[in-house]
Amino acid sequence: MLRDAVRSLADAKIAPYAAAVDEEARFPQEALDALTANDLHAVHVPEEYGGAGADALATVIVIEEVARACASSSLIPAVNKLGSLPVILSGSEELKKKYMTPLAKGDGMFSYCLSEPDAGSDAAGMKTKAVRDGDHWILNGVKRWITNAGVSEYYTVMAVTDPTKRSKGISAFVVEKSDEGVSFGAPEKKLGIKGSPTREVYLDNVRIPADRMIGEEGTGFATAMKTLDHTRITIAAQALGIAQGALDYAKGYVKERKQFGKPIADFQGIQFMLADMAMKIEAARQLTYAAAAKSERGDSDLTFQGAAAKCFASDVAMEVTTDAVQLLGGYGYTRDYPVERMMRDAKITQIYEGTNQVQRIVMARNLP
Ligand SMILES: Cc1cc2nc3c(=O)[nH]c(=O)nc-3n(C[C@H](O)[C@H](O)[C@H](O)COP(=O)(O)OP(=O)(O)OC[C@H]3O[C@@H](n4cnc5c(N)ncnc54)[C@H](O)[C@@H]3O)c2cc1C
Repeated sequence: MLRDAVRSLADAKIAPYAAAVDEEARFPQEALDALTANDLHAVHVPEEYGGAGADALATVIVIEEVARACASSSLIPAVNKLGSLPVILSGSEELKKKYMTPLAKGDGMFSYCLSEPDAGSDAAGMKTKAVRDGDHWILNGVKRWITNAGVSEYYTVMAVTDPTKRSKGISAFVVEKSDEGVSFGAPEKKLGIKGSPTREVYLDNVRIPADRMIGEEGTGFATAMKTLDHTRITIAAQALGIAQGALDYAKGYVKERKQFGKPIADFQGIQFMLADMAMKIEAARQLTYAAAAKSERGDSDLTFQGAAAKCFASDVAMEVTTDAVQLLGGYGYTRDYPVERMMRDAKITQIYEGTNQVQRIVMARNLP
């Protein structure tokens, strides 16, 4: 029922704008409005804070179905979870109430600020600093590649509070867009997910009350990594949705397109490609849903499974979307058809929330 409801909404209110959002590299406001009106913009927020209280699997299905129509738009529910999960996992009750309530209502989105210009895969090498000043902290630094920066009201920011301790000297904070000293860089000009703004976040002597720290001092990096264990599954879901969208489009196209006097779908070479695409998608789906169940239960092998789902599903998305372009021939290579957009959008799923090389490092360290 949830899948049907999200698919109908996405087909009616999100898909019609996907090409324009990509072409104009503009924020998918129509999608945000439709998702918020239907309480689907941040479905993971627990009911006690006014949220929909969706479990990890339901959240995955929402993201998958939105991504099937528009990958950029699927970053609304996905990054709302990414940005706010540190508060849900490690924040004080006051912090949860203060920030989850407006997020659930649709009054403010959340972003996640871990990466920096010189700290990507090696996130613990970050330089952004937080220095204590009485009952406040003062933050200085630059966060890079921040999804929905400038649009979001709230930012989970990881910063160094003790430079002698590397990852154990990093703490997490909630920073608000309206805090003095917060500003944003120009939107990055990207290959895909062009409707999702990616900008730098500048923190220039941002003075915030001490109770904005998420969890204890020095636990920020652990919280950031624990968050990714859960949210990599949402990227797997995004990849899955993009791949399904490409397969669905190609499936229709091959029945219509005639060469050599018959629909190209009649050729076994085409049928085998479609069979492989569907097989890979289904394998990615099963891995992703199993990982979502592990996320919900908090199973001990979640770290391996989350990385495996993200890595596998994103590789599948890249292969399937590339094959979809192939199935449309020259038409697939043009912006008159949606599959080249899907191929460009798929690429990011192999890069963010840890590149697929990093996922393999994570898996190797956590072999079942
Ligand atoms: C569109 C977009 C949105 C993003 N959104 C966010 C966001 O909201 N919040 C956030 O914090 N970050 C975000 N990111 C950042 C993203 O997570 C990083 O880009 C990613 O982690 C890779 O870091 P990097 O770009 O510095 O690459 P690098 O770390 O410089 O990696 C370059 C290459 O080296 C490889 N490599 C690095 N180390 C190793 C190793 N030990 N072994 C093998 N290979 C290795 C990588 O796999 C990659 O292929 C986003 C990025 C993009 C492009």
